[in-house]
Amino acid sequence: MFYEKFNFSFRLTFYLYLLLILRIIVKFKHQTYLSDNHMHEWALAESILTAALEAAEKEKLKKITLINVSIGELQQIEKDIFEFSINEILKTQNKKLKDVEIKIKTEKCTLRCKSCDKKWTFDDMKKKLNNDEFEAIHFLPEVAFVHARCPKCGSPDFEITTGRGIKITAIKGEK
Ligand SMILES: [Zn+2]
Repeated sequence: MFYEKFNFSFRLTFYLYLLLILRIIVKFKHQTYLSDNHMHEWALAESILTAALEAAEKEKLKKITLINVSIGELQQIEKDIFEFSINEILKTQNKKLKDVEIKIKTEKCTLRCKSCDKKWTFDDMKKKLNNDEFEAIHFLPEVAFVHARCPKCGSPDFEITTGRGIKITAIKGEK
């Protein structure tokens, strides 16, 4: 009798602890996943604003009114989180960025064959993919280039001319 009672409460405690540990693990994983994601976009947002402020300093602008940002099609970025990060950082910024408007555009990826100079786009390549390949490329665009060949001469020697990284394409301001 005693043994059974003990056994039961022991098991109950054991399960409760197990549940608690699982909850902590799940919570921890979820948080690191989210913050890792945020970190990347946050860092990019910070570097864009820092670069804009440096450019304004050079041009002796008192105020920045517009920043045009171009994000490459191949750049791994969550646009919503990037925009959120920019807005959050702007709240803490000085007068120079008080009324700034930030326009974000996606830069299409284009490629150029080094053998025959043929130019083509990432969109052209995507059309020829099946669903599985398309999914894989959505997560890791570089995958697309592993087996890619020039559509004209078949050479594997090509370069990505646009569509990588993130950059400021224009800054407007007041002196
Ligand atoms: Zn070629």
